[in-house]
Amino acid sequence: MDIVTTSGTHATPAPTLLTNRENHPNGTVVNVNGVEIGGPEVVVMAGPCAVENREQILETAVAVQADGARILRAGAYKPRTTPYSFRGLREEGLELLAWVRNETGLPVVTEVMDTRQVEQVGELADMLQIGSRNMHNYSLLDEVGLSKKPVLLKRGMSATIHEFVLSAEYILKQGNEQVVLCERGIRTFENSTRNTLDLSAVPMLKKLTHLPVVVDPSHGTGHWWMVPAMSRAAVAVGADGLLVEVHCTPEDALSDGSQSLRPEHFHLMMSEARSVASAVGREVASMSPQPD
Ligand code: PEP
Ligand code: MN
Repeated sequence: MDIVTTSGTHATPAPTLLTNRENHPNGTVVNVNGVEIGGPEVVVMAGPCAVENREQILETAVAVQADGARILRAGAYKPRTTPYSFRGLREEGLELLAWVRNETGLPVVTEVMDTRQVEQVGELADMLQIGSRNMHNYSLLDEVGLSKKPVLLKRGMSATIHEFVLSAEYILKQGNEQVVLCERGIRTFENSTRNTLDLSAVPMLKKLTHLPVVVDPSHGTGHWWMVPAMSRAAVAVGADGLLVEVHCTPEDALSDGSQSLRPEHFHLMMSEARSVASAVGREVASMSPQPD
């Protein structure tokens, strides 16, 4: 499918996109500090929506690591719909992430919201997350494209697949090919779920591009009890990874508690994901390596 269109009367031939699967028919493997996304393993990235305090981030990191999460997710800078909600611990959150990364050995993915934060976040994070709201922020895409860090690019909540791919193209065009695409649900007329998780995006993105594709069933549904079922489905349709929110006491979470799994539910979700992975010729780690 040709995804670059020409407009007006002075049509120019569409260039072959850098993201085009033809460039790497076997797919790109993104290396996040030793963890390979896009290889045989379905990589689980798990953790709280936001870093809240030292005990919370350590307890959650230890719990998800014990069940096979390979990368810790948690926001220090949080994009919130209302400016009166908790917007993250910011610099203090980054420091806590650096500390917990050292304690557990888990690589960290965290959101960067602004071009001015790329250098600071890049110093500690193993992977830079571009949130749904910033998928169209082309200055930010240019900036992470210039960094050497792997990027987790989330689909804009109203973005078409073509717009999503072209946002990834911005990053590759600046020289950074280490990009993982994340389907996190889109806005539709349906409001029983927070978003409509578009699992058909997975095979489509893998056909169009050579980039790994992961699925976020937490933001994709907004309901913790739906996360295991949608995780199984995501693995079945070929996702290269999952991004899952976990909180030890979701009722006290400062953000996204209703879609966060307790560790015991995460444990069950992981064993189910493992069964589906083996049915489709892939694997999910059972326990992440820990530092000596
Ligand atoms: C998140 O991962 O916590 C997040 C804010 O996600 P999204 O950008 O997909 O809403
Ligand atoms: Mn969240």
